[in-house]
Amino acid sequence: MAQRDDVVVVGAGVVGLATALALLEDGRGVRVIEARRIGSGSSHGNCGTITPSHAPPLAAPGRVGEALRMMLRPDAPLYIRPRVDARLWRWLWRFAGRCNRRDWEASARAKSLLLNDSRARLADWIARHGLACEFSPSGEDYVFRAPAAFERGQGELDLLRELGVEVDVIDGPAYDAMEPAVLPGTAGAIRFRGDAVLRPDRYVDELARVVRERGGSIDEDRPLQRLEEDGAGVVLQTPAGPLHAREAVIAAGAWSPQLARAIDAPWLALAMQPGKGYSITYDPPSRVPLRPLVLRDWSVCVTSWPSGFRLGSTMEFSGFDERLQPRRLAALERAARASLHEPVGPRVRERWCGWRPMSCDDVPIIGRLPAHRHAWLATGHGMMGVGMSAGTGQLVADLVAGRAPAMDAAPFDPARLG
Ligand SMILES: Cc1cc2nc3c(=O)[nH]c(=O)nc-3n(C[C@H](O)[C@H](O)[C@H](O)COP(=O)(O)OP(=O)(O)OC[C@H]3O[C@@H](n4cnc5c(N)ncnc54)[C@H](O)[C@@H]3O)c2cc1C
Repeated sequence: MAQRDDVVVVGAGVVGLATALALLEDGRGVRVIEARRIGSGSSHGNCGTITPSHAPPLAAPGRVGEALRMMLRPDAPLYIRPRVDARLWRWLWRFAGRCNRRDWEASARAKSLLLNDSRARLADWIARHGLACEFSPSGEDYVFRAPAAFERGQGELDLLRELGVEVDVIDGPAYDAMEPAVLPGTAGAIRFRGDAVLRPDRYVDELARVVRERGGSIDEDRPLQRLEEDGAGVVLQTPAGPLHAREAVIAAGAWSPQLARAIDAPWLALAMQPGKGYSITYDPPSRVPLRPLVLRDWSVCVTSWPSGFRLGSTMEFSGFDERLQPRRLAALERAARASLHEPVGPRVRERWCGWRPMSCDDVPIIGRLPAHRHAWLATGHGMMGVGMSAGTGQLVADLVAGRAPAMDAAPFDPARLG
């Protein structure tokens, strides 16, 4: 009789590892299987901001027109590479259908549940497990150089305040006086006091450490090839042989739609797309911003930790294209040069790109896999997987245990997309 694991989590990014930790804290046995190396996906080179302030989704009123205009500019913050790809166009069609005020607000409310829960839970995990990941409850600033963009940027603040986000609106001269890293000429800024920051690759490593210390195991270079239900749970086929488990959680990030057939969820192939983003990491320059900044005129995020300085962002829909595009990396530095006294650090440590797991409504997909009894999904975290990781882990642990979760799980239910 084959040995049976309790829960197998597929994918060792922030979402898979946070889920593993929450399950272990709940007294479950956990094995994580990872196709490549721990933290080798999107969780590696992202900007590491923890942002209850970012609840409003990408699918916003006016976004379709903006995206179409930007298709002509390969260095634009939001870029769809024109090409024949039936899945991409079907995904875009569903995304476009959400770009209205009602759906925008519904998605924002759903994401806010997970972001707020995660923000509080993350601080607790960091303290209890001693996660050495350069966490700082710094807050975050949106910085605007164009007055019209500053005006527009305030359009979502009423909703954010209603969702519990603490907001300060700061005029340009006052901001120039209080943030020594920015060049004079700021039109205005919005400060989100409850946001925070951490170094994401260290967070991943620390989650993996705690998972192992608490008795979990992590098998690297072990991709899931096929998932089937058997009488008492699931069988996960891998090149190193099958694994039998009571439950399986698929947390394969942007690769999740590639598993659609293997996990018998064909709808997933149409519900997600990889949203490519870039970052450049440097040794810190001598003058760094006091807290993370989003340079809103270019949608570029500036993060600094004691161990490094990072420019990141841009959203590109170009399929699973691994190439680092120089012009998109250059766009990051161009935005920083227009905004900061010291836009880059003295030495480049890494140029990176990664794929965000984008669901077509920009709301994570968390819950039981339709038509399965023992298989669960935790994916589709888009631009905020780090900031939603702890809450996702707890939500999965609650659902697998059959308990009423701490938050309403209905907006995340995979069945909404099937
Ligand atoms: C430029 C950029 C900036 C960002 N900034 C932020 C930010 O400031 N704050 C924030 O919260 N988020 C940010 N994000 C988003 C964030 O990085 C993602 O939402 C998050 O990392 C997703 O985590 P994940 O665990 O779902 O996916 P991943 O980290 O991609 O992990 C998925 C894992 O599954 C593995 N896998 C795939 N297929 C299989 C298989 N068949 N079997 C086993 N394993 C498999 C992969 O190898 C991978 O390791 C940013 C993203 C980018 C690109």
